Amino acid sequence: MGKRKSRKTKAPPPKKAKLEKAFDCPFCNSRASVECTINLKDRIATARCEVCKDVYFTSAHALTEPIDVYSDWIDACELANEGV
Ligand SMILES: [Zn+2]
Repeated sequence: MGKRKSRKTKAPPPKKAKLEKAFDCPFCNSRASVECTINLKDRIATARCEVCKDVYFTSAHALTEPIDVYSDWIDACELANEGV
């Protein structure tokens, strides 16, 4: 009889592709200076530039990804640039 297959095979953690979290700033054009944080508790997402310290707030939900926050910011910037 063969050995019982151990059920304790610990699967290696799935290789997480490093999520893009740093983005280029739409104001000062610094590269990868914008960091997005998502606060699901308060449902607030923040994008903040390390260089010019500009901050953008938007609402967040369970499926919000940093890239969503960033693209929201870009959209808001474009709206602003159109001169409201
Ligand atoms: Zn900036």
